[in-house]
Amino acid sequence: MDQFYQCPYCGEQDALDLESDVDMDSPGDQVFVRDCSVCCQPWTVTVHVAPDGTTSVNVGR
Ligand SMILES: [Zn+2]
Repeated sequence: MDQFYQCPYCGEQDALDLESDVDMDSPGDQVFVRDCSVCCQPWTVTVHVAPDGTTSVNVGR
């Protein structure tokens, strides 16, 4: 499940494979860092997992 997000540094769209980083069975906020594959700057990725398993993702610096 790749989803695309805009890099906050270089503005390029980059894929984020959430399944390898996010525990979908743990509701709440999960934060991890992923380097942009285009400019190699670190993204701070915040994933909110709702109790029903839906996720919302925020990518920032
Ligand atoms: Zn970038």
